[in-house]
Amino acid sequence: KAKQAGKNRYHLFDLERDKEVTGYQSWLNQLQDALNGDQLQLYYQPKVDLASGEVAGCEALLRWQHPTEGLKVPGDFLPQLLSNDLDLRLGQWVLEKALCQLEHWQQQGLALSLSVNISASHLLQQDFAEQLATLLAKHPNVSPRHLELEIVETSALTELDQAALNLAHCKKLGVRTTLDDFGTGYASLTYLRRLPLDCLKIDQGFVSQMLDDPNDLCIVENVITMARALNRNVVAEGVESQQQAQALLQLGCSQVQGYGLARPMPASSLDLWLASWQRKPRWRAQTL
Ligand code: C2E
Ligand code: MG
Ligand code: MG
Ligand code: MG
Repeated sequence: KAKQAGKNRYHLFDLERDKEVTGYQSWLNQLQDALNGDQLQLYYQPKVDLASGEVAGCEALLRWQHPTEGLKVPGDFLPQLLSNDLDLRLGQWVLEKALCQLEHWQQQGLALSLSVNISASHLLQQDFAEQLATLLAKHPNVSPRHLELEIVETSALTELDQAALNLAHCKKLGVRTTLDDFGTGYASLTYLRRLPLDCLKIDQGFVSQMLDDPNDLCIVENVITMARALNRNVVAEGVESQQQAQALLQLGCSQVQGYGLARPMPASSLDLWLASWQRKPRWRAQTL
């Protein structure tokens, strides 16, 4: 009897698993449709230079306008992609879209840079830099110096030699490189030592409590000191208050990004934000 029940259970589990597999497949199909249609969008979050108060550039953040479920953020769909090759196609789409936007800004006479988040599996493709070179060649008006690749520290960046090689190749093209979410990985200092990086982005987890938690403040202060000593630019992400911006300026942090400045927004809203910021930059050395 017990055997029978066990068998039934197995059967049930099997059915559940089938349902899960078909569920996953249909979800992949939806994302595929999103990619082929016009449901994917880049939002832009500005980044400001604290000394001058000038807008240094923006970060491109992926959004999915789902036909029935509304606006989705990367956390809702990127982790589930795992190593599906849709991840690569998405990455390619984001880079293409970002270059179009850079070209647009260039035509408007805006000297903004644009940071793009690159997944580990995308960066580790043998021909990553070649593909980037091909894309850049399609946008000859865009200065490669205006494109920044943000690499997230993750355990997935296992083949560090390959990552370093590809990034070095990208830097030869004139593109800049940033280590995102610095301090959250398993091997932050190893990445810093081995990868050709122009910039460190301090993870928002350290920034959010830096005024309340002396340990976090100490970490932020020393990451800034270290970045400067190593001749790397340093950006703080997740800056929500003027007090945080003030403290970061005093600690020698050159650039900040966060809800306190602006939330990520569609390109159509950015023009207005930029105009109002230029009229009255809220955060800069003189007024902070
Ligand atoms: P990230 O690159 O570290 O981006 C910062 C995330 O924090 C963004 O979330 C942003 O909306 C949010 N954020 C910015 N300022 C603040 C703040 O002041 N407070 C708080 N609480 N949050 C803030 P988002 O857009 O949901 O993106 C999450 C992550 O998804 C990104 O983290 C990045 O790792 C990844 N991602 C986003 N777009 C892409 C993409 O096009 N490709 C890849 N591979 N990954 C992406
Ligand atoms: Mg990022
Ligand atoms: Mg980040
Ligand atoms: Mg982050």
